[in-house]
Amino acid sequence: MAPNKADTVCEEPEITLSDISEREQKIFETVKTEKLKWFFFREEWTIRWEVVALHTFLYAVTIYGLLTYPYFQRYTTLLWAYFVYTYSMFGVTGGIHRYWSHKCFKARLPLRLLLAFCYISANQVPFRSWIQIHRVHHKFTDTDADPHNSRRGFFYCHVGWLMIKRPKEVVEKFKKLDMTDIDADGVVRFCDRHFTVLRIIALYLSIAVPVYCWNESWYYSSLAQFMRYVISLNTTFTVNSFAHMFGYKPYDKNILPAENRFVVYATHGEGWHNYHHTFPYDYRSSEIGGSKFDLTATLIRFFERIGWAYDLKQPSDSLVEKTVLNRGDGTLLKSLMN
Ligand SMILES: [Zn+2]
Ligand SMILES: [Zn+2]
Repeated sequence: MAPNKADTVCEEPEITLSDISEREQKIFETVKTEKLKWFFFREEWTIRWEVVALHTFLYAVTIYGLLTYPYFQRYTTLLWAYFVYTYSMFGVTGGIHRYWSHKCFKARLPLRLLLAFCYISANQVPFRSWIQIHRVHHKFTDTDADPHNSRRGFFYCHVGWLMIKRPKEVVEKFKKLDMTDIDADGVVRFCDRHFTVLRIIALYLSIAVPVYCWNESWYYSSLAQFMRYVISLNTTFTVNSFAHMFGYKPYDKNILPAENRFVVYATHGEGWHNYHHTFPYDYRSSEIGGSKFDLTATLIRFFERIGWAYDLKQPSDSLVEKTVLNRGDGTLLKSLMN
């Protein structure tokens, strides 16, 4: 099936100062001129100590696991953990991100169910919350209305934003966001209604397979999955931190999102972030060519071949070329000439 090639840079209307209130304009102007920081804190924020405690526990156990796991004796269980990492990451990148948040392609019921299972295995927040956070992030990228505004420093956009009560600028945008398509989605409604039970089942499956298939102990199987979970959580966070702070901007030099190879490999294809913020509806999240790695896009094309995915969207080649010439930082052209 021929890809659905669009001629617009971004489906979401670009935010201009006239779109936002006077008070927000001041905030917007302030953040635009703020220098990048590693740490940023506002006294009016309320810290969610239960989240701070949870993350401290997660990192402490993971570090203990990384130091004590018998890698050579129990490598099969680690390979299994990497397989779970791969399919749960596909649930995040291909499912909740490209399919549900951006509608980059259409999917038949078997694929929607598979994507839902993979996303639940990643053990993140309920579907609706993830989509809402991400859509507001795209609409108000790197302003105070962005839930993980990267102008507030590395710690904030990586994980700190989860440790405070949501700022009112963000809450206001959440209320105004159109989520009718998601509210009408039966798979999302079902999964969110039974989210806790479903994620316990997915977690149990990931731990039980090594125990019943190659007599792994419950302890080491649980430890491997625990480490897999915390590592995958953090690689997901790198899209909001590393890919908003470090890298090239071949498609739009005026925004913070950047092309970051470390994030690309860690998330199986999600780090082409300057491209993604310029063309968020592209199912590839990157302009494929040369050595560009995007396992998620490869899997979406596989599902297209077996008829489970269709109507894959992407911009026309001429639009991408024009955008590179008019808005890019020149790095892509330089690399092509070398
Ligand atoms: Zn982003
Ligand atoms: Zn996105």
